[in-house]
Amino acid sequence: MNPTVKGEEMEFRDLKKQYQLHKDEFDHAVIKVMENGGFIGGAPVNELEADLAEYVGTKYCISCANGTDALWLALLAWGIGPGDAVFVPDFTFFSTAEVVSMCGATPVFVDVEESTFNMSPADLEAEIKKVLAEVELAPKVIIPVDLFGLPANYPAIRKIALQYGLHILEDGAQGFGGSLDGRMACSFGDMATTSFFPAKPLGCYGDGGAVFTNDEAQAELLRSLKIHGKGSDKYDNVRIGMNSRLDTMQAAILKVKLRLFREYELDAVNRAAAWYNEHFEGVADIKLPQIPQGLQSSWAQYTVLFQNETIRNNVQQHLKEQGIPSMIYYKKPLHLQDAFAHINREHHCPVTTDLCGRVLSLPMHPYITEEEIGFIVSEIVKAIG
Ligand SMILES: *Cc1c(COP(=O)(O)O)cnc(C)c1O
Repeated sequence: MNPTVKGEEMEFRDLKKQYQLHKDEFDHAVIKVMENGGFIGGAPVNELEADLAEYVGTKYCISCANGTDALWLALLAWGIGPGDAVFVPDFTFFSTAEVVSMCGATPVFVDVEESTFNMSPADLEAEIKKVLAEVELAPKVIIPVDLFGLPANYPAIRKIALQYGLHILEDGAQGFGGSLDGRMACSFGDMATTSFFPAKPLGCYGDGGAVFTNDEAQAELLRSLKIHGKGSDKYDNVRIGMNSRLDTMQAAILKVKLRLFREYELDAVNRAAAWYNEHFEGVADIKLPQIPQGLQSSWAQYTVLFQNETIRNNVQQHLKEQGIPSMIYYKKPLHLQDAFAHINREHHCPVTTDLCGRVLSLPMHPYITEEEIGFIVSEIVKAIG
């Protein structure tokens, strides 16, 4: 029987449990903001930015309204615009490529590796060479995504970036908390971004995002761009910018959440992943997430691969009937999204197209129990017979 059936449904990502366990602290943090009457900026925002930069290991953290704006701000700070090519994985959330088009630049879709779901360095180099041969576009930026919590292959991507003189913008929306040989995600790019959307590894109680950099001039520019291109203050406008701030309430909440993330939540999701791996041991015909040597994931998703689309869809249907939620991240490669229909490129990213038909993301969060995981695995085993 479903171990969570006591009037409660199993959650794909439980966002209530944390609040129940630490209610007094969250309530106190929010009430303090309301009592102080400062709702934009102020100490909670400044302190959070310092905490985040310290955790990630960069000099500067610039908070903003969401993870999409964070990417957009970074591209604006580099002056990316029409005629520029920006390389993005084909297998990611829409934002990663959307921001490229919002700048007037052209996204070039790069295939991923089946074993990690992350950008393929080999295909990246092939696509850079193609763009150079075609002449119309100038290669400028690579946006590797730390998909499902696993940092991309930065050692290989960095080599290519150096060889062709390109910037790396790390999309760490799902990667916050991941690491490579002890170095934290959101520190691998020339700039990096994250999202505090509630279901991300470090989520707030609404929308939020941040940009990370070691470059003081870029940090200054980002602080101007996010507040109407401000000069000495927001009524002195020296460039065109936007209005993209993390509000004080979210910062106060995130300060508590970052502490819990560091204290036990990151460990808890890694323990949950280990439980999945143990319970799946010996089960044939299903491919479990692979974590290459030296890397650590923050498990934004625990995503498995089935042999074909029919089996995947049958498993999902069976799980649903048992009250077990699951998600397909992602159903469609970016190059097949209608919004990019005008980008007429021959490259089809076969690995991404194949993955979209076979992936399934299972419930994953710091509060999931081994009993629940055992139940999920046993129902999957039943479904695949
Ligand atoms: C969620 C996400 C974003 C966008 O973050 P928002 O805060 O929702 O704007 C960007 N890239 C990736 C890979 C994401 O998963």
